[in-house]
Amino acid sequence: MLVGERVEVETPHPRAAVKQLAQRLDGRRLLGVEAAGKNLLLRFEDGIVLRSHLRMSGRWQVHARGSKLVGRPWLVLRGAEREGVLWNGPVLELDDRAVRRLGPDILAQPPDLEAMIANLRRDHRRAIGDALLDQRLVAGIGNLWKAEALWEAGVSPWQPAVEVSDEELRAVLQAAHELMTTSVETRRERRLVYNRAGRGCRRCGTPIEARGQGEANRTAYWCPSCQAGEGPETA
Ligand SMILES: [Zn+2]
Repeated sequence: MLVGERVEVETPHPRAAVKQLAQRLDGRRLLGVEAAGKNLLLRFEDGIVLRSHLRMSGRWQVHARGSKLVGRPWLVLRGAEREGVLWNGPVLELDDRAVRRLGPDILAQPPDLEAMIANLRRDHRRAIGDALLDQRLVAGIGNLWKAEALWEAGVSPWQPAVEVSDEELRAVLQAAHELMTTSVETRRERRLVYNRAGRGCRRCGTPIEARGQGEANRTAYWCPSCQAGEGPETA
């Protein structure tokens, strides 16, 4: 199926996103797939092996690239024409010798908010919206939940992290934790600000703005009225 191809990798399910698989595997060539009992071993170039154990409920499907997916799979491996999709919380582990150190897990019960706050303030000039996506500082927050959590707490993504108060940072992280936990339980995403550029803010009616942020140029969405702090021009 996808063996021999360079694959695009996505981890739509928040529980899988925490594992950093997309960042580690995206763009690598899939060299082989081996089944060992209920374990499936996927070998990628550079000696990286992904082990998935399907337990009772997990299953892999292969279908045409771009097929509509209902629900949120753990892993999508996308080749030129086909994609492999892994459904339902299996064991998913990367085996390599250089797993980068991750920050505290936003989905932990309870999350270590104080350690996250200290991490987020490490770089003096970094905007909070950019820092929240750095998995070495806080593990698990993706671009959608970054936008939703900052909007919920009324903090601009462009505010330098060092200038955001402890209370506000705690509110942002708590919102991310609660929204993501709820999403895992209900299998729903909420989008009050994400992907709503130009539409009215659900709180104050001001048009939502959008602009690329950080080195990876991920799009930040924010309300210029009720998310206090700086805009992109000054950040
Ligand atoms: Zn607003």
